[in-house]
Amino acid sequence: MEVNPPASRAPALPTSGVAPRSLGAELRALAAWSAPLPACALVAATLPTAWIEAYARTIYPHVGWALAGLAGAAPASATELALVACVAGAAWWVGSAARAPGVPRRERGFRTARRIVLLLGLLYAWFLNWGILYHRASAAARWGLDVAGVDDGALRRLATRAVTIANRDGPRFAEAPPESLEAERARIAPLVAELIAARDGARPFIGAPARVPCVAPAIDALGIDGITSPFFREVLMNGALAPPHRACVLAHELAHIAGYAREGEASLVGVLACWTSPDARDRYSAALFLLDDLAEIPLDDGRPARAHLGPDARRDLDAELARNRARRGSLARAMRAANDRYLRAAGDTRGVASYGDAVRLVAAALGED
Ligand SMILES: [Zn+2]
Repeated sequence: MEVNPPASRAPALPTSGVAPRSLGAELRALAAWSAPLPACALVAATLPTAWIEAYARTIYPHVGWALAGLAGAAPASATELALVACVAGAAWWVGSAARAPGVPRRERGFRTARRIVLLLGLLYAWFLNWGILYHRASAAARWGLDVAGVDDGALRRLATRAVTIANRDGPRFAEAPPESLEAERARIAPLVAELIAARDGARPFIGAPARVPCVAPAIDALGIDGITSPFFREVLMNGALAPPHRACVLAHELAHIAGYAREGEASLVGVLACWTSPDARDRYSAALFLLDDLAEIPLDDGRPARAHLGPDARRDLDAELARNRARRGSLARAMRAANDRYLRAAGDTRGVASYGDAVRLVAAALGED
């Protein structure tokens, strides 16, 4: 007669129906799931410069066209909508692994960790379609600019030209009617595209939408004037930015869209596009951008550039300088530190210091004229 063993002596199976893996097997699986992260970083860091340049001129604009098409079709900022959807989806997926009923605690922990590293790897791989551009040869090298040759005299001449433009075009700006962000984008985008086509010999993709996002008050508090979304080709502007400064910030962001990842180089393109614009509003914006940094440079008579400004330009410059001073709180400092880490991790070894490269780059470019 066959006797079944008592239920209490039957071997226990995990409720998930899967035999638990050894610690070594769990760690190997975790390593495999996290492989995309270092693999992508290795590829980005070791690709030959010529390949990255070829990517910037061929694949990158087409990816940009597709992503900007998606962003443009969205009823609001695609970046904000995608962020909310992705964070919610990722939280649900990771959370479902952490809470899986009947799964032993250790396995739940490893399953959760595997999902987190996979998501980070996918995020980084997608980011690289933009981030790889930080590894391009510098614009100074591609354009043949002698930045080391920019001395105090070159900066004084640049400040003098900026003062002349600001005094001439400031009153015209004050009289001009207000302009929508879209109208401004449509006017400036061709200027940026033509400048890059002339310098690089290839016309970039630049048709990204520009929007003021819902989080604009937050980005203002963080000391940010504009953002180019690395995940969609979309420009997000700080709605609190004073109108005279908007053209240059917009042109800077459009330069990012066009493949100029480094901050100083995006400003080089943005300032030059506005400086050479037939529209007085753009020229005025470029002059104010430069005077932000050059206001205290002594001109030929020994007085600082700021002292040579007419009432319109001095009012607009002082308002911007005061706004910048007011945004130096702990929140803005933390954002600056985070941005510095982000830029260095992405491949811009100068970090936030690269923002300050713009004036010397512009002086080198305009010194050719
Ligand atoms: Zn930027």
